[in-house]
Amino acid sequence: MRTQTTLLGAVCLLASVAAHAHNQRDLGRETLRPDNGWAASGSGVTGGSAAVDAQVYTVTNRAELIAALNNGVVSSTSPSNPSNEPKIIYVQGTIDANVDDANQPLACTDYYRNGFTIEQFLATYDPAVWGRVAPTGPVEAARVVSQQAQQARVRIRPGSNTTIVGLGRNATIRGAWLDIRGTAGVANSRTNIIVRNITFQDTFDCFPAWAPTDGALGSWNSQYDSISTRDSNNVWIDHNTFEDRTTADETLPLYFGVIFQVHDGLVDITNASDLVTVSWNRFRNHDKTMLIGSSDTAAADRGKLRVTLHHNLFDKIGQRAPRVRFGQVHLYNNFYDLRGTPNYVYSWGVGIESAIFAEENFFLADRSFTVDQIIDRFNGTTLSVSGTLVVGPRVRNPVDVISAWNAVNDPDLGFDAGWTPTLNFELLPAWTTPLLVPLFAGPFR
Ligand code: CA
Ligand code: CA
Repeated sequence: MRTQTTLLGAVCLLASVAAHAHNQRDLGRETLRPDNGWAASGSGVTGGSAAVDAQVYTVTNRAELIAALNNGVVSSTSPSNPSNEPKIIYVQGTIDANVDDANQPLACTDYYRNGFTIEQFLATYDPAVWGRVAPTGPVEAARVVSQQAQQARVRIRPGSNTTIVGLGRNATIRGAWLDIRGTAGVANSRTNIIVRNITFQDTFDCFPAWAPTDGALGSWNSQYDSISTRDSNNVWIDHNTFEDRTTADETLPLYFGVIFQVHDGLVDITNASDLVTVSWNRFRNHDKTMLIGSSDTAAADRGKLRVTLHHNLFDKIGQRAPRVRFGQVHLYNNFYDLRGTPNYVYSWGVGIESAIFAEENFFLADRSFTVDQIIDRFNGTTLSVSGTLVVGPRVRNPVDVISAWNAVNDPDLGFDAGWTPTLNFELLPAWTTPLLVPLFAGPFR
């Protein structure tokens, strides 16, 4: 047993309650504990905690956020070379990314360029008219230019040594893509970033691409994750909520017989990113939620993509919680609420050369759930799983997730990820998870 005895677990649980119940402290000046997941490895995460007074900002709209990320310099679009000066940015109220420079709201139609309309796009590339081949020509070209017009508004690029935290419990960033991005092949080109205490809502792409041969019916593929990291390291994402409200999947139309999917991931960690801790977040009502590694052929990802996920609430999540390639990924004390998730596909995606170490996770399931559904395999071969607890109408037990999967799939998965995590702050028995996570995940109360 890697976790404490029940009595010691209860004591730790009470200590954890105390740690998460109060918010009288200055989150902007906090740093990552030295044992809090993979992000604590190497140089750890201090974010902008050492900022001088001139680099402490309170922002209330998109323009102020972009300026704060760039030493106070106003810019219509978020510069690709943001400031690396230590800085603390407090988000107050709701920031909408789909606005003009005067903070007036922009609708999808405001991004239409070169004569684009969705009606003309649908008329042009309907498989009944166009056939089942990829769109080309002026209407597709106009879609791409229109997409870029939206991207210029919603893409927000932070520099290194930056802390972005919400003030109070209602700080919200809506419609944005927080693009944490370094330079491929350049070590520490984007590093030491903290994002905490913010609700990220409705990151959406007005201009999904039509992929007519992606799946049996084709699919609509979108840009923009709420947060993405590429070529970045030592990032801590903590106590946030990620959710779709006004653009929830069930509100989206069907075009060409499939959902007009305007969302990409909520937190995607790709392109040789490394040393990331994702803790105490709420992920709600989303399909493809967290991709760790975006390609089977990304050789630069080998030995990287080391990520810890702990005490996150995955509530009505369809898949990718997470889907992993290459990385040593530690999953502990996460709470998966699968009830009322008609589009549930799987939780843990076992991808190529992945090494998931999952312990003391908790699943709340409904009647249709079977334990083998927790895993899906994508060219992976093995993982370590222990202490999984499932509660539902048909299960109320510790379960052996790998054996359940192997019983109905071939070839079998192995039982050993080949490594043992050590940076496991707050690791507790799985039974504490349904008590602590619904109470304390997401922004601080
Ligand atoms: Ca993505
Ligand atoms: Ca089998």
